[in-house]
Amino acid sequence: MEVGLVVVILFASFICTRSEFIVYNTSQGIVPSKLNVHLVPHSHDDVGWLKTVDQYYVGANNSIRGACVQNVLDSVIQALLADKSRKFVYVEQAFFQRWWRQQSETVHRAVKQLVSLGQLEFINGGMCMHDEATPHYIDMIDQTTLGHQFIKQEFGQTPRIGWQIDSFGHSAVQAYLLGAELGFDSLFFARIDYQDRAKRKDEKTLEVVWQGSKSLGSSSQIFTGIFPRHYDPPDGFTFELNEESLLVQDNILLFDYNVQERVNDFVAAALSQANVTRTNHIMWTMGTDFRYQYANTWFRQMDKLIHYVNKDGRVNALYSTPSIYTDAKYETNESWPVKSNDFFPYANQENAYWTGYFTSRPAFKGYVRMMSSYYLAARQLEFFKGRNSSGPHTDTLADALSIVQHHDAISGTQRQHVADDYAKRLAMGYLEAEELVASSLACLAESKANTGCGNIATKFQQCPLLNISYCPPSEVALSHGKSLVIIVYNPLGWKRDDVIRIPVISELVTVRDSRGRAIESQLLPLSNSSVGIRNYHVRAYLGKFPSDAPKYWLAFSASAPPLGFNTYVVSIGDRAGASSTRSTVYTSEVGENGTIEVGRGNLKLNYSLEKGKLTQYVNSRSLVNSFIEQSYSFYAGNDGSDRDSQASGAYIFLPNGSFPIKSEAQAPLTVLRGPVLDEVHQHINPWIYQITRVYNEKEHAEIEFTVGPIPVDDGIGKEVVTQITTAMKTNRTFYTDSNGRDFVKRIRDYRSDWDLQVNQPVAGNYYPINLGIYLEDNKMELSVLVDRSVGGSSSVDGQIELMLHRRLLHDDHRGVGEVLDEKICFHDECTGLTIKGNFFIRIDPIGEGAKWRRKVGQEIYSPFLVAFAEQDGDNWTSSHIPTFSGMDISYSLPDNVAMITLQELEDGKVLLRLAHLYEIGEDEDLSTKASVELKKLFPNKEISRVTEMSLSANQERAEMEKKRLRWKTEASKEETKVVRGGPVDPVKLTVELGPMEIRTFIINFSSIFFPHEVDS
Ligand SMILES: [Zn+2]
Repeated sequence: MEVGLVVVILFASFICTRSEFIVYNTSQGIVPSKLNVHLVPHSHDDVGWLKTVDQYYVGANNSIRGACVQNVLDSVIQALLADKSRKFVYVEQAFFQRWWRQQSETVHRAVKQLVSLGQLEFINGGMCMHDEATPHYIDMIDQTTLGHQFIKQEFGQTPRIGWQIDSFGHSAVQAYLLGAELGFDSLFFARIDYQDRAKRKDEKTLEVVWQGSKSLGSSSQIFTGIFPRHYDPPDGFTFELNEESLLVQDNILLFDYNVQERVNDFVAAALSQANVTRTNHIMWTMGTDFRYQYANTWFRQMDKLIHYVNKDGRVNALYSTPSIYTDAKYETNESWPVKSNDFFPYANQENAYWTGYFTSRPAFKGYVRMMSSYYLAARQLEFFKGRNSSGPHTDTLADALSIVQHHDAISGTQRQHVADDYAKRLAMGYLEAEELVASSLACLAESKANTGCGNIATKFQQCPLLNISYCPPSEVALSHGKSLVIIVYNPLGWKRDDVIRIPVISELVTVRDSRGRAIESQLLPLSNSSVGIRNYHVRAYLGKFPSDAPKYWLAFSASAPPLGFNTYVVSIGDRAGASSTRSTVYTSEVGENGTIEVGRGNLKLNYSLEKGKLTQYVNSRSLVNSFIEQSYSFYAGNDGSDRDSQASGAYIFLPNGSFPIKSEAQAPLTVLRGPVLDEVHQHINPWIYQITRVYNEKEHAEIEFTVGPIPVDDGIGKEVVTQITTAMKTNRTFYTDSNGRDFVKRIRDYRSDWDLQVNQPVAGNYYPINLGIYLEDNKMELSVLVDRSVGGSSSVDGQIELMLHRRLLHDDHRGVGEVLDEKICFHDECTGLTIKGNFFIRIDPIGEGAKWRRKVGQEIYSPFLVAFAEQDGDNWTSSHIPTFSGMDISYSLPDNVAMITLQELEDGKVLLRLAHLYEIGEDEDLSTKASVELKKLFPNKEISRVTEMSLSANQERAEMEKKRLRWKTEASKEETKVVRGGPVDPVKLTVELGPMEIRTFIINFSSIFFPHEVDS
């Protein structure tokens, strides 16, 4: 045979064999003797950020970003069906549910099959991947529950992996509560401080066992994996359309055949990651933001890589999920270092501390908090009335609230049009819930809950804009025998007194309690600036032009039973002596000397008239007597023209100097005094107004601040803070809460996990505050509680600082691409947004602060829900019950327990969550085991079954405990004994709770509920 012919024949056979269809072997499992590279296909789909959630879903507004989640899910499902070895994890249920509702039965069947085979796995499983700095823990639980319920219903699955890959820092509450207590076996994320990461890579401690709770200790640990870099694949292995990574070209007939080269790249990247990871398992996160819009681009490459890398044999590549990875880690029987506390604050480089977002969009953060508490109360009332299948419901509000917990929503790091979209969703949810609340209250007041609430005559109105003194139902003219009926509902499980303030027009009014007795009340004149703010915002937001403005706030002390209401009636004061007391008004004069004392009860605040400011805090009961000052200042936001061109922006706080805000002249003080409260009004400067309230029956000061529009005509963005200063010697130490729950000890310029290189002494010591912040020395505790999430710190010993508002002029280059410069517009004329909010200050003798922080913290989270009706004549009591309690009238929850969920489920069952409010060792009396009598919570129902569930109520607690992995840890630390409540006795039905324990139950009943009249 001629040589030439041989070559031809050989070549022909070569073509034949090599150009055939290649069956890639992708079914490889774990090989214990090799380095296993777990390829985890995922798509990170933000539930709103640059585009709204719906725009991301349908793929609209693509000039901003070509992202379409529908395409992701459509194409991933097809790709999974094409090869049984392929896997994918999906996270955001807000998107998945949108998609699921649009699919046919056939697709449903196919997807259910993929889920049951483990090809498609739901991880995290909440409606969104929530932020961890700014949400309240109750919202985190609710949004996770909503997602988990759906996954359970449709797929019978319980997610077991936490996947918080993009949140900007990580909270202790995430680890133990939204991790371990959900039954998760592991938690993964990417963003930790760059210094921390460097050390962890060095020491191979990127993977740890995280113990987030002091109180629950080792009983609530979770295995936690921090990615070596980010949540995208190693360089060169990203395969979306138009990506620059080299594709595996394995067709010998085509140019650029590169199999060996790509295999070498793969092995090199794997070995490099193995260098910073313990055990022979590493995870590659194969995906990033909104990827897999055409899933085959990824799967085709991964099929080839798995096939050729395993043929090569140096390392073992496999399709995997975080569950498979977690189990593999567990199987190695390795001992892991223990991590405590949290991962705040987060800096990704020297001058980039992500601590600005703790305060960004403070109005939105305040709105979310207000809706969160309203949702909690509305669900209670929905239960007392009985859930009506035709609505109105709280479901729309639940859905909106769940979406806004996303890490680009409540964080304030989204574009303006997206923030508007979130607010609109909340407002729509509120409107439906408001209707439900009104009808529930009417039904209960008319005592018709046992007859199904038909034919209800009473119409209740509510006032969501009460903070700007806009409340049409209370501003009615009370003439011609008409009076105003006020129902005050208390969502807390304790009897509670609080001061109600409503705007009124007339000055001759009398407030009567439910028995018709006139009670003390006080009229406080509304300042012109308050009326100005009111009218401007009503015009801008409602398009209404109120002709009349209320002249006064009417304040009176109201009281309501646990989970119940009380009724008050306001009418024109006909009898002398019975009408409301007008406040005395005193305005100091410039140049006046001496001090003025404010407060009639135990708490007195002294002000220097000369300096126009607070100087002394005196409590005559607790004998606290302390120097105290309060001041304002602003940080100039860095404009990015120097230092790594980093600007202060929506995410990042990078101050360029701090500037005290002093009253321009000696601002006079105006003091209002009366039988209910005293107020001190201060015009700090043309754009900061402050009212300090001292209630006669309370021992804390409430400060209402109005900040804005922040002037930026000088070209400087500003971040406005207030400082509360004492002479306490606090040794760089302060305490801030974790999502409104546990308090975490902070030490200025210090981190427990590594030697901190201090580059940003201010921004690097900022922490998120949802409940409060406190300081202590050997004599006293200074506590400040907040009404929404803000950033705060203690930059100087004895001082607490809160950031209240930010207005900035530069983008901070973290992707949002828009300046955080919130405005309010009316007729195309825009000004910077004004923020109104409250914080609360108290000083206690050492060891006594926790009781106030915990109790008043609950009151701030759950204010009285107030509803109004008009009454003709005096016939209210003949047709309505004046007081109501949803619990046994003699019962109240223990002081250390709160009911954080009471919700009727579709099938008449009830979801109940009880939370112990104290940490171990936090309070001498109340950090103890508590018990709650379920029978007394449901006095008119017969409980037939109580089932304890996991935190998200998607599985029985016992089952969850049985399944959960218990990890081996290095040198187990001595810990205080963990106290948890025992099993619920089926006869006594008493629930015990240990410190910081939250227990979740599904309760079945066997009889009907009759509401209850109580004596006040
Ligand atoms: Zn994200």
